[in-house]
Amino acid sequence: MTGSTAATFTADDYGARMERAARTAAEAGLAGLLVAPGPDLVWLTGYTPPAVTERLTLLVLAAGQDPVLVVPALEAPDAHRAAGAAALTLRDWTDGKDPYAATAALLDASGRFGISDNAWALHLLALQQALPGSSYASLTEALPMLRAVKDAAELDLMAAAGAAADATFEEIRNVPFAGRRESDVAADLDRLLRRHGHEQVDFTIVASGPNGANPHHEAGDRVIARGDMIVLDFGGLRDGYGSDTSRTVHVGEPTDEERRVHDIVREAQEAGFRAVRPGAACQDVDRAARRVIADAGYGEHFIHRTGHGIGVTTHEPPYMIEGEGGPLVPGMCFSVEPGIYLPGRFGVRIEDIVTVTEDGGRRLNTTTRELVIVE
Ligand code: ZN
Ligand code: ZN
Ligand code: ZN
Repeated sequence: MTGSTAATFTADDYGARMERAARTAAEAGLAGLLVAPGPDLVWLTGYTPPAVTERLTLLVLAAGQDPVLVVPALEAPDAHRAAGAAALTLRDWTDGKDPYAATAALLDASGRFGISDNAWALHLLALQQALPGSSYASLTEALPMLRAVKDAAELDLMAAAGAAADATFEEIRNVPFAGRRESDVAADLDRLLRRHGHEQVDFTIVASGPNGANPHHEAGDRVIARGDMIVLDFGGLRDGYGSDTSRTVHVGEPTDEERRVHDIVREAQEAGFRAVRPGAACQDVDRAARRVIADAGYGEHFIHRTGHGIGVTTHEPPYMIEGEGGPLVPGMCFSVEPGIYLPGRFGVRIEDIVTVTEDGGRRLNTTTRELVIVE
């Protein structure tokens, strides 16, 4: 995952990210950030350990201090080769030594720290024991917008991931659907995403007929038949940045009702997209999309938020949901994905990744949003 992004970003880029993260943490009243292996560490340093184990690997960021990566000695050579390594100090520890005492020595004993959401409880409990006066907050809750605004190079990678997902759709719409299982089509999606450069596939939803009414349905043994509406929702990481798109297709000629419901979702998706501009609130995007569906009489059948942020993960802040008043900022990337779900019958969802520009929004998915007929 880091191989190709490391080619894009330099030690200076990572150094600037770490400095900004430490500053933002201080502004939020935190004594520092404790970053475990995962998306935050990749974004801040370009480093992914060869395996995430019980051995402590932790980036310590605090305003006014040099970033320190606490790392097991046997993994120090790998960490040293990471693109961001030049911008930080490695503090390696050998088996048998106490890495928590060494980490605690770097920290304000009574400080409050933001810690990665995915840090192991094992490590957090040991740190709490080493520093009884310290306290902790979820890094994502404390700094939800840390990774939200993408720079130009990140936007290029987001656009390339979106284009790869679009190329996948252009191929999947031509495979046979009728008579095959959902899981067969899902396997096709997985293969196509990888062929178009994805190193990680996060989801390949194929929800046919009544399964389409369940937004969480993945793909199962149901055999697809003529007359089925099918929700396709797929994505993952390409060069370390995420794709996520949904299109709803129909096997053979749709009924008038199926066409009408699809039209409503398409209009809702367009309304959500048109609400995207700098300074608008996240909830404005949700409201714009939801109003179209409610006005058409299907409000109770749009049962999830309109969108989620995306970057080095495929689901992250900001969220397009009622109550989220934070402003849209140029460089943010998120999904606009309204849907209508009719229990026992069918569902429709249309999803594009959109990035905020100076004067509106730009879609990173551009395949047709008309109802596509498949065979
Ligand atoms: Zn049908
Ligand atoms: Zn999706
Ligand atoms: Zn999505």
